[in-house]
Amino acid sequence: IDKEFLLIPGPTPLPPRVISAMTQPIINHRGPRFKEMFQKAMIALKELINCSGDVYLIPSSGTGAMELSVDNFTSKGDKVLVVDTGIFGERFYMMNVARGRNALRLKVEWGRAVQPEEITEVLISNSDVKAVFIAHNETSATTINDIKQISSRIKKMSDCFIIVDAVSSIGVTEIDIDNWGIDVLIGASQKGLMSPPGIGIVAASKRAVEYAMKKENETYYFDVKSIKKNADINQSFTTFPVSTFLGLSEALKMIQEEGYENIYKRHLIYRNLVRTALKEIGLELVANDADASPGLTGIYAPKGINANDIISMMRERYGVEIASAQGNLKGKAFRISHMGYINSNDLLVAISALECTLKDLGYNDIEMGIGTKKFLELRRKFE
Ligand code: PMP
Repeated sequence: IDKEFLLIPGPTPLPPRVISAMTQPIINHRGPRFKEMFQKAMIALKELINCSGDVYLIPSSGTGAMELSVDNFTSKGDKVLVVDTGIFGERFYMMNVARGRNALRLKVEWGRAVQPEEITEVLISNSDVKAVFIAHNETSATTINDIKQISSRIKKMSDCFIIVDAVSSIGVTEIDIDNWGIDVLIGASQKGLMSPPGIGIVAASKRAVEYAMKKENETYYFDVKSIKKNADINQSFTTFPVSTFLGLSEALKMIQEEGYENIYKRHLIYRNLVRTALKEIGLELVANDADASPGLTGIYAPKGINANDIISMMRERYGVEIASAQGNLKGKAFRISHMGYINSNDLLVAISALECTLKDLGYNDIEMGIGTKKFLELRRKFE
């Protein structure tokens, strides 16, 4: 039987309820039923991320939502600061450069979060910075940045916009736009939100919306003016990915039913289970303990083993689909996701398959089953 355990950081596995919602007949994306669902989804998202400003749903992956944030919430020639803690920080930087922004880049080595002082230090000598761009959960380096702290420190010295990439943190860990003082936050459907790829999410504070309404248009498709005009009457500017949306609507109901706090707690428990088991096996992790992502874990391949061989063996022999590392870590590390619709049994399979895989690849420095045992011992404490 062809069956796989999908443990990559997006697209993540779909709950059966989401799959079945998507098999409904297509509905008119300008009809009353869609409008009602669209409104409900926006309300659910506003509650999830505590946003009293606007939330827009756009037909796009996360990268499109990132680009929208550059085009609509900054202007040509603006000085911006991009915090680069990994591939997605780098992507924000490249976009800003491509769009003619005067982009400063604060590069942080992979595996640790940026410290708020590192950002404020740059802002002291660059008081004309109009926006700070930062990833909340840096999926490539498997770290999480403390947006609450960072935002509060920035607010004390600057009224620049704080623009956050939350593609891999929405539905995984707490986000509080209003209380943290975030101006723009972007996300996508296919990770913690347990839905297929195809819908981008943009949340904007009132002052960010005002700014976008006044500024000169730089784009047509991703223009907040027309997106807002349509969102205000509960519809999308262009044809919407209706089936994906039916799935997302169902997933948002599931998230409300499980409860936000329970979801965040579950992700932290899984992170701790996975990290403890991996350390027991003797593997080195990419992120340090204090900054480790609740959504996924990066692991270095043991010396002498190519990480891509681990990934292939996990797939071919054990049916476990894990992700390659990105950037300079390709071939050296791999990533196991624990975000979205995943339970501890999935992770138990992953840990034991990894032990078998390492043995298969000739890594004999481990006592077989040691990580699995540790995982089970620790899991019992949470049952
Ligand atoms: N930002 C982060 C933090 C991500 O994890 C990803 C996807 N891995 C993206 C942006 C880009 O999203 P997409 O692939 O949906 O364009």
